[in-house]
Amino acid sequence: MIVGLTGGIGSGKSQASKRFAMHRITVVNADIVAREVVVPGSPALQSIAQHFGNQAIETDGNLNRRKLRDIIFKTPTEKQWLETLLHPLINAEIRRQLNASTSLYTILESPLLLETKQYEMVDRILVVDVSEMVQIERASLRDNSDAQKIEAIMETQLSRQERCARAHDIIQNHGSIDELNQQVDKLHELYSELAQLETTSAQ
Ligand code: ADP
Repeated sequence: MIVGLTGGIGSGKSQASKRFAMHRITVVNADIVAREVVVPGSPALQSIAQHFGNQAIETDGNLNRRKLRDIIFKTPTEKQWLETLLHPLINAEIRRQLNASTSLYTILESPLLLETKQYEMVDRILVVDVSEMVQIERASLRDNSDAQKIEAIMETQLSRQERCARAHDIIQNHGSIDELNQQVDKLHELYSELAQLETTSAQ
């Protein structure tokens, strides 16, 4: 059984994932995979360098994310080009990591689970929900960036209402980290039971 864990920037996905991992549940992180597919020397990074030229590559050979973000923010067709290149690679690598998981169930943590086709890979959707105000407060503190930057990222993500409407389960993260952990612990019990039921019915 695969549970997709999503939520807006700063909602508490990483925090919730840490607690699932504490229960020895494998967490596949879509953000990490997205970085892995463009490491120096990868075919995807070579295609990006060919398409956008040297401006897209840092002097140390890594992807110049800031530059690329600027380009695709201004030019939707370039955004489309990049997504057509990267999404299939990212999804294939996510699938590989999900298949390799041996835990009772597996978490796929992704900020864009519902905005991309990644939701098709999961059996259940778990949303970490907070108000926009808390999102901006926590994310700007974590990233040491101003509220406008966080708001610009939020604009590219689903609204709180749209996200929650598609959830099977919701974690409310307005309280303390302890309260978040308690909700994860309860869901871990539920998911463990569901995964066991699935295993027995498949036998
Ligand atoms: P996401 O992965 O969804 O972007 P994070 O899990 O990184 O969000 O949480 C954003 C920031 O808020 C982090 O610095 C995290 O430690 C903090 N945080 C998360 N949940 C809580 C909470 N319940 N109380 C206080 N701080 C929190």
